[in-house]
Parts: sequence; structure tokens; C-alpha cells
Amino acid sequence: MIKRQKILITGRVQGVGFRPAVYRIAQALGLTGFVYNDTKGVTIELQGQEEKIAEFLARLQSQDKPPLADIKACTVTELPAITGEDKFIIKTSDAEGSALSQVTADIATCRDCFAELFDKEDFRYSYPFINCTNCGPRYSIVKTIPYDRPNTTMSEFAMCDKCAAQYTNVTDRRFHAQPVACGTCGPEIWLTNSKGKTIKKGTKNTIVEAARLLQAGKIVAIKGIGGFHLAVDALNDQAVKRLRQRKRRDHKPFAVMTDSIERIKKYAIVSGLAEKLLKGPQAPIVLLPRKEDSAIAPSVAEGVDTLGFMLCYAPLHYLLFAQGIEVLVMTSGNISDEPLICKNQKALERLGCVADAFLMHNREIYRQVDDSVFHFIDDNPVPLRRARGYVPTPIFMEMNSPQDIFAAGADMKNSFCFVKQNQIICSEHIGDLEDAEVYHHYIDSIEHLRKLFEVEPKVVVCDLHPAYLSTRYAKSLSGIKLIQVQHHWAHIASVLVEHGLSGPVIGIECDGTGYGTDGAIWGCECMIATLEKFERFGHLAYYDLAGADKASKEAIRPVLSLLKKAYGSEFTLQKIDWLLERIEDEPNNKSQISNLKSQIILEQLDKGINCVETSSLGRVFDAVAAMLGLGSYNHFDAQLPMALEAIAADDIEEHYDFELINRTGESVQLDLSKMFRRLVDDIKKGQDASIISAKFHNTLSIALLAMAKQAREGTKLDTVALSGGVFCNRYLTNRLIKLLRKNDFRVLFNKEIPANDGGLSIGQAAIAAYLLSNEV
Ligand SMILES: [Zn+2]
Ligand SMILES: [Zn+2]
Repeated sequence: MIKRQKILITGRVQGVGFRPAVYRIAQALGLTGFVYNDTKGVTIELQGQEEKIAEFLARLQSQDKPPLADIKACTVTELPAITGEDKFIIKTSDAEGSALSQVTADIATCRDCFAELFDKEDFRYSYPFINCTNCGPRYSIVKTIPYDRPNTTMSEFAMCDKCAAQYTNVTDRRFHAQPVACGTCGPEIWLTNSKGKTIKKGTKNTIVEAARLLQAGKIVAIKGIGGFHLAVDALNDQAVKRLRQRKRRDHKPFAVMTDSIERIKKYAIVSGLAEKLLKGPQAPIVLLPRKEDSAIAPSVAEGVDTLGFMLCYAPLHYLLFAQGIEVLVMTSGNISDEPLICKNQKALERLGCVADAFLMHNREIYRQVDDSVFHFIDDNPVPLRRARGYVPTPIFMEMNSPQDIFAAGADMKNSFCFVKQNQIICSEHIGDLEDAEVYHHYIDSIEHLRKLFEVEPKVVVCDLHPAYLSTRYAKSLSGIKLIQVQHHWAHIASVLVEHGLSGPVIGIECDGTGYGTDGAIWGCECMIATLEKFERFGHLAYYDLAGADKASKEAIRPVLSLLKKAYGSEFTLQKIDWLLERIEDEPNNKSQISNLKSQIILEQLDKGINCVETSSLGRVFDAVAAMLGLGSYNHFDAQLPMALEAIAADDIEEHYDFELINRTGESVQLDLSKMFRRLVDDIKKGQDASIISAKFHNTLSIALLAMAKQAREGTKLDTVALSGGVFCNRYLTNRLIKLLRKNDFRVLFNKEIPANDGGLSIGQAAIAAYLLSNEV
């Protein structure tokens, strides 16, 4: 029987080769009708034999689904059959309204392109820029919309006849693949010395020489998809140390790249889940447990028990590794915390003192995009940094915002986002705004993404912190309504919107710093939260931090404050002089903290000079790490907490005592004084640091559970949402999730966006969207 059906498909179905796939299946099954993109997704009208239409739907959702497509829903309505239709066509989208998101993320080399890359018979054999509809650069090369070749950095390369034939053939894998190119018509690579003088030309010569330099322990800056990497042999400790020194990155772990899962397994433990993520089209960096006998140079990642691995994701990477390279450190091409460098000239200027050679190419990178980083929480892949491969894929909300929104994010690990209707369009990881170059990059990026998605924000939402640069920027925008959202409430809201909820939930939020409504620095909060409002149910009992900004770097400040609080009037510096022996005076200065400095800090605490009250949990981790001799200074964010987590023994169930203090009319307060006194006793007794660390983590998980239980008693709520940077700690988070579930809580946490400040703007956006859509 002849039928006609209208099929609406939503999800990630635009910019992924969906319409050509629909065309090919319809063609093969002899169906007539048409397909077009619209603001909701893809709409198809199909006519033909009933069983052929059923087969069409089955194939589109399984074997013939384009690899990058993600079908969220498929709605079918019956239509009366029409006469006079004899073929299936792809209609232009414009007539039906413009698509919401034409620009997709950069995708790792697909299997088909990989095979062609190493196939001597293929005309793109060994071509470092081979790509197709299913892979290659997108977001990083788009200058403006619509997403067509003239609007990308590929505009200066005219396609040869062979490439053009594929580009225009709807049945070809390269149909409308905008960056399509080959060795005859496309971009090329060359090698320069550190001064920019060309030393090798031609693909073969360039690759062979670059590989030789790397194998000889040299540092090579390699231009990739989202920017330059600084590469060095990851098995050569001397070479890695030289890179650290030149890049002025003393401590932060480096990521490592190789070309096969088998090779990763020589150095790290790869679960089935991790393997799937590593091999996926986004090809992120995945944190994996390091094997004990791993030959990776110790200086690649010190003070952590993981290695960040990624697989090759550009054809250029594969060609390099095919020269016999084993594993490479591939770290962002920048100095210190500056933005990632993506332009050839800038790379030579800024990285000439770091790299011995530059592997260049002439496909311009328009937007720099860092590598994404993932780890696992409760056996779920969770991002620590959301960038290449994921941006600008939108996050869908259950609600529709009546107005476009700009959410400014946080100042640390910044990312910002826009809301357009039901989509949250997040920027890539931007960085720490206090660096002037990063701040400029932030401003540029806002304008670029706004234009790319045709957003016209009428509302801006930002943090409460008056000194945040993002807050000041938001306030400087004229003619736009301003909403300010408390930091930890935004974190909890980010979990709610990811799960399609509006609350109320019991929100548990733990991090380093966030400006509170009372002017204190919050950081360990239990709140009853919805997208409309929150109430502070409980928090870590306040302690003082002396020295403002220094307090988040120098562990001695929280150490003295927390011990003073724990011992009260009995506390003197003399009593802990044995403990102070472990704490360094200045970063990188091995001498013990001077008595004078300790006295000054203590006096500040006594008199309340330059002090701020805080409930920060991050600083508690810093203090415990320093007391255990793991370091005295955070050279990068969360260095000490990470070191503390890395040593925690996994077979310890004990914990320390703590108190939950209930005073009428006040929030519940978690007091860790008892824990600190027992913990100091343990150190004095010579208890193993790994056991103390485990007991410390266990205490926090039990204490947060107890807080959640109290919140449940009062409210009858049984859903807990966890967010904040401290929940990037796998030991604590996995343990707390288990405990909460055991006690019949439903537990929600961030899965699509980072739990740290990199996800904050999404929560800000969700709150603003909710308030706007419920405005009367
Ligand atoms: Zn491909
Ligand atoms: Zn060509």
C-alpha cells in the first residue's frame, strides 16, 4: 500500500551529513518526497510502499545513520498520498527558516579517511589534511555564517576537479564537506627552525625531519586543529624537563598522545568505557590510572596518580607517529596561562624561545580551541574541560527562553554561554580572566559566538562577586537587563538544567571560592535550591583567611587559621613547630617557613586585619595536604587537593569525628575542629599519610551525607545535586554518591559540563532563562 508520512527528527542532525544520508536511503528504496533543515531539526516527507518507509526509518536510525548524528526524537505523522511526484530531493533550508546551529564541532579523523591516508592507491595518500563529512575541522575554521566554504579559512584554496566532483556528488562521503582538499589543491605543511627559517618543505621531508627531531629529544611546536601543541618525547625525562622550564609551567601535568589504544595500555589502565571515549569522534584527553611500571617520564605528571592520554585526532598526527614515534607530550602551545596560540606568526614570536622547530601549515585556524579533558565519576565520562570536539554543540533545555541571554561565567576556568530559545550555546574553555590576554580573548570570543549563532541578548547574567572581571564586563553592557546570581546556586542550577529539572533539590556545593550573599567567601554549601530561588540550609563553619588573594595559593594561611580554630585558646605556634617544619617559606624555596611570617599571619588572624570569613572547602584540602608534607603552594589551581587525593589509600573505612551545629534561626554548621585535632595526633604518631588522607576524605563524605540527611528531615526532599570544583575529586565524589544512594537519596551530578567553574555559566543561564520564562 502506498503511504505518505511526515517525519520530524530532532537532536544533532544538522551539519553532520544528515540530509545526504536521508537522500541516499530514500533513493535506494525507491521512495519519493523531500528533506530539509528547519529550526527544530530535519523534516522529511516520504512516499512509497509502507514496508519500504518502515525500512527507511530503521536504516536511518541504525546502520545508515551518519556517524556524528545523534537522534533525540523521531515524530511521524500520516499525510494523504499525492500524485505527480517522481523523485526524492534535498530542499534548501532557507525557504523553511534558518537552522539554529549550522556550525558543528571539530571531529577526529574518521576510519574511512584514516584508511585512505595510508592507502597508496588513494589520491590523498599521505595527505595531512584529509577529511570528509564525518570528520575534520569545523568550528575552528569558521569565520562567519552561513557555514559554507567561502566563510571558512579554506576559502583561499580553490578545489581541484577531483575534489570538486566529490564535493558536489550527493552520494559521496565528501558531499558538501567544506574543508575538502587534496595534495594538489589544498593546504600544505613545512618545517622551520625556531627563528622561522624554512628547513624542510614537502610532506614527506617535513614529517621525516620533524619525527627525527622529536626522537632526538627536541621540542617541536606542531600546528594542529585548534592551535599549536608543544611536543616532546614523553619517555625522555630530560627533554620533558626542558619543556617545563622553557614554557614556565613548573608543575601542571602534561597530556600525552599516541596512535593506538594498545600503546596507551602499556602505560595506563584503560577500562572499556575509557577506550570508547578515547576512540570517539571527539578524541578528548582522558585521565587514566597510571600503571606502576609505566615508562612515561616522571616529570610528565608529578603529584598525581593519573596520566592524561589522547589518541591522534588529525591526519598530521598519524603521519608523524607512522615514523616510529612512541608517545609524545602534547601540551598547549602557550606560555604559562596565556591563551592557546593558533597563528603562525604569533607562534614564532611567543614560542620561538620554547620550541626548537615548528611544524607549520597554511590552513588558518580562525578560533583557537583547546583539547577537552575527561575523567570518570560513578562510571560516567565527565568533562573537566569542555572544548574541542564538544563546542559549539548546544545543550538543550526543557524550557524555552522568551529572550536571548548572555551568561558571563566565572573568572577562573572561564567559559561563557548564550541562550537562544531552548538551546544553551557554550563557548570553549577560555581560561583565567586575570591574564590580560585571556581577558581580551574572552571579549573577542563573546562577539564571535554571538554572531555565529545570531544571538541578540536582551538579558545578561553574571556572578555576584563585585571584583570579578566578568561581572564588571556584564555591568558595562548598556541597554541590557542585568541579573546577578550567587556562585554556588549557579553551580547547582547547572546540574538541574542538565537533568531537565527545575527543583527543588538538596544542593551540595563544594569548591574553592565563591562570593556569598553575606559578603563572606562561601565554598562548602548545602542549599535547598530551585531555578527560581535558593535557601542556605547549611555550610562549613566559617574560619578566617588572612592575606586575601594569597590565601588561595599559600597553604600556611588556612593551616594556621584552621588549627587556631580547632585548638582555641590553647593554640600557640610553639605547639605546632614540628608541623611547621614541613611548610616552605616561599614557593620553590625549600627553606622552612620563617617564624616571623607565621607570627604575622597569626597576628592578622587575631586582630582580623586583611581577613575574610570563609567556608571554602578547597582551602581545607590545601591545609591538610600541607600538613602531610605534600607541598605548601598551589602553583596551579587545586594542585594540593589533587596531591592529597592521589595518595589516599583505597581500602580504609575509618573517618574522623566532626560536628553539625544547629542553632535556632541559623543555618546548620559543619565544624571540623575535632577532625583537625585527631588528624594532628595521627601525624604526630607517624600514621601513614595515605591513611590520613583516606580518613580525611571519608570524614567529608560522611559529614556531607549527615548534612543531606538533616536537610531531608526538614524538607522531605530526597534528590541531591552535587556540583563545584571539589567534586572533580574522584575519591570523594564516588564515595559520597555511594553513601547517598545507600541512604535512599537520588543523586544528580554534572555529566555534560564540568563541575568546576568551567560549567558555571550554564547554571547562570538556566536561572535567567527560568526567571524570564516564568515572568508575569
Ligand atoms: Zn573522514
Ligand atoms: Zn583536490
